[in-house]
Amino acid sequence: MIIMKKDASKQEIDNVVAEIKKLGLRADISHGEALTVIGLVGDERRVNFQHLAVLPGVRETRMIEAPYKLINREYSDAFQDPGKSRVIRAGNIEIGGDSPVYIAGPCAIESREQLFRIAEEVKKAGAHILRGGIFKPRSSAHFWQGLGSQGDSEAREALSWLQEAGRKFEMPTITEVRGEYKAALIAEYVDILQIGARNMYDQDLLSTIARQGKPVLYKRHFGASVEEFLSFSEYIAVDGNKDIILCERGVLPIGKGKSFTRYTLDIAAVPVIKKESFLPVIVDPSHATGRRDLIYSMSCAGIAAGACGLAIEVHYNPAEAWVDAAQAITSDELAEIIDTCNRIHAVTVERRKINKTGV
Ligand code: PEP
Ligand code: MN
Repeated sequence: MIIMKKDASKQEIDNVVAEIKKLGLRADISHGEALTVIGLVGDERRVNFQHLAVLPGVRETRMIEAPYKLINREYSDAFQDPGKSRVIRAGNIEIGGDSPVYIAGPCAIESREQLFRIAEEVKKAGAHILRGGIFKPRSSAHFWQGLGSQGDSEAREALSWLQEAGRKFEMPTITEVRGEYKAALIAEYVDILQIGARNMYDQDLLSTIARQGKPVLYKRHFGASVEEFLSFSEYIAVDGNKDIILCERGVLPIGKGKSFTRYTLDIAAVPVIKKESFLPVIVDPSHATGRRDLIYSMSCAGIAAGACGLAIEVHYNPAEAWVDAAQAITSDELAEIIDTCNRIHAVTVERRKINKTGV
């Protein structure tokens, strides 16, 4: 990255950008209150730091060693208050702001009635963002893949229900994008685009989704290290979209015996990621455990660990949910979780403010 001097002129900044372009690289410009910082995007081998360091207006050049650079806390700390995290806006909701954000709704949208009933219930319970799967990444090709798989008109219809329910109950909406060619269609209807755990490594999908101009909820693959997760989220950032919400949703269990949970919620990943990156982190206790009796405790743990929100699957008749029935909870249970988690947040937030990275 290139840190410009405090009094660098616009012409000097433009000149540095022109030099970067000459090298065949792109420039990511961030204007902080006091400083402008320019990130280099592209093939590192082409960079001649010595040449860039002596250009007029340049204070210093610095190499970020980690494979994730534009989302690195080191990068953002150079142009804004150290420890400040990114606040992402969807509708009138702030993710990564002062209070926790709750994403709730059915795993899969089954019908208009089902979605509207759940939307009304989760809104009353205190949820801020409405989720509902339309293109489901199922573990067998013989399972139902969501309404979106039944044809284009069914997909549009389900997307329009989600949009309508979001408007009616005043919640921004989110759904998963499966398949690059669907990204633009889905972006017409929803406020946040979700990249599912199974697609964490799909670079082309990440780039396509990044370019839709909407915030992205990016889920960690169950086999990915934190470093891989952050490195791949950089594929979204280099396409000009840093509105990335990182989601910890459990990793593969270890050992030969029974683990008793679907995945293992990597709770330490929350503060670790917050130290490494300025992006907001949320926890999904539903997919992490696969068990409704564990959602309450893992939600509490997530917020206590510093997550800025939760994503939870809700159904009015959990046992009858078409997908992920074992982990669905009722909206009454959601209300209890939100109440407790808000109190946990209130008693832990001050401590986190002392330590600048919010950990
Ligand atoms: C989901 O959130 O609907 C989902 C399928 O989760 P994951 O990608 O984490 O398995
Ligand atoms: Mn699910």
